[in-house]
Amino acid sequence: MALSSELNTYHKERVIRQILNSFIMTIILKIRKDNPEKVLVKQAAEIIRKGGLVAFPTETVYGLGADALNAKAVEKIFEAKGRPADNPLIAHIADKKDVYRLAKEVPKDAELLMKEFWPGPLTIILKKSKIVPDIVTAGLDTVAIRMPSHKVALALIKEAKTPIAAPSANLSGKPSPTDAEQVIEDMLGRVDVIIDSGSCDIGVESTVIDMTVKPALILRPGGLPKEKLEKFLKNIGKEEHSEKPKSPGMKYKHYAPNAEVIVVEGSREKVMKKARKLVEEYKSKSKKVGVITTAKEHGYDADVVKYVGNTEKEVARKIFKALRDFNKEDIHIIIAEGIEEKGIGEAVMNRLRKAAGYNIIEVR
Ligand code: AMP
Ligand code: MG
Repeated sequence: MALSSELNTYHKERVIRQILNSFIMTIILKIRKDNPEKVLVKQAAEIIRKGGLVAFPTETVYGLGADALNAKAVEKIFEAKGRPADNPLIAHIADKKDVYRLAKEVPKDAELLMKEFWPGPLTIILKKSKIVPDIVTAGLDTVAIRMPSHKVALALIKEAKTPIAAPSANLSGKPSPTDAEQVIEDMLGRVDVIIDSGSCDIGVESTVIDMTVKPALILRPGGLPKEKLEKFLKNIGKEEHSEKPKSPGMKYKHYAPNAEVIVVEGSREKVMKKARKLVEEYKSKSKKVGVITTAKEHGYDADVVKYVGNTEKEVARKIFKALRDFNKEDIHIIIAEGIEEKGIGEAVMNRLRKAAGYNIIEVR
């Protein structure tokens, strides 16, 4: 099939996915979020047990899961996502006891966090046990473990009777999916099952904390704000931006839409003034401009304006979809208003800055 030059990148990719889907048929299972249908969960769990791939919802983002103890199955995750082999995966469990199978040592402080924050958006790094295949941890001697709170995720893991290794269910480098439609965009024809349980409540990935070092180190800000962790753990370090981060995934280009992104940071009034100026500048150069704003009455004269809410929590829920949806509209440049780095705002800003490739303008 010839891909017409009139199709934009988004639509060309859609055609490619339809073609892929004729090779591997992806089953889409609609499963209720609050009261998951057991027969459907069983059907998906059976695929995991047979070494297949299932995209499933969690409270943070959608994950792309395989049996964490089956190296061949996990290899398929890397293939489906185009994920670099040196970027390890998170093992998802439904029973805290499984930590003691996957980890060699579980320090007291880690147990405290498990008690306080699991199930929930916290991933804990521990020394790995022998049963975890090297491919899951990308050869590291540590393993990332999380117990999600989403009922469908928990039911799937329980029914599969094995921990499920899962990164986010997007193609490598793209924004993480927060509903099934976004998973379908990237994964149709690449995986066996996509579970559709609607939108994710949190919208950004889990917080990753390394409990193998003292003081404990936050490797990735995420759904669980640092302020909450600090109530239980004194003296937490934060890894700074570096070429060789301890969390390998942090070094890659990530969350990026097709358009260039500029983040404008600083006091609210100044941010909006600067963003308006940038919109004018780019429009005068005949660029199609998109804006991500937290003000309903924004007054931007851009081609597309996406309002993502005015609280940190709401922005977290909407930011990935907003970034992704600009691909449908052939926008050349996206101007994004920065938000305050309090609570989950820290994770949002971490993702936005990465989506922008650290293309940041500060107006303090
Ligand atoms: P994702 O949820 O797709 O963003 O991927 C999981 C994240 O957890 C990536 O940023 C990984 O680098 C990180 N991660 C997984 N296992 C480890 C580990 N053993 N040590 C440090 N970071 C890890
Ligand atoms: Mg990811």
